[in-house]
Amino acid sequence: MPLPATTSPLRSPAARLLARRAELRVLIDTAAAVAAGVGEQGSGVFDLKDVAAEDSRARIANAALTRAAGELAQVNAALLRVHEGSYGVCDACGDDIDERRLAAVPTARFCTGCRAVHERLATASRRTTGLRVAG
Ligand SMILES: [Zn+2]
Repeated sequence: MPLPATTSPLRSPAARLLARRAELRVLIDTAAAVAAGVGEQGSGVFDLKDVAAEDSRARIANAALTRAAGELAQVNAALLRVHEGSYGVCDACGDDIDERRLAAVPTARFCTGCRAVHERLATASRRTTGLRVAG
């Protein structure tokens, strides 16, 4: 019997990730439609205020699209880790990631300690080279 797809705080990480992936796909479709649809429903009346509003709508939609696509990539990577059996294991030190951290951030790749180090390194790297450290 298939499990119901409805919400429960005790869902497995995989179920939560799958639910989040579905949400993100809807979000991405919506944002893409808004971004693509801007300017298409023109009434023929040229109004600078409308142009400005459409421009900022497109910018907001594009920003949402970028953010959602980034999160979707993280969710997919986390689902892959679930599949491979390495979900919940720190990428850096191999320790188990705290359950509370996974509850708060289901896509977490690092334990709390390694995350702090990783973020310091990423920040330092951004400052010195302008490059981003992946993850
Ligand atoms: Zn670690």
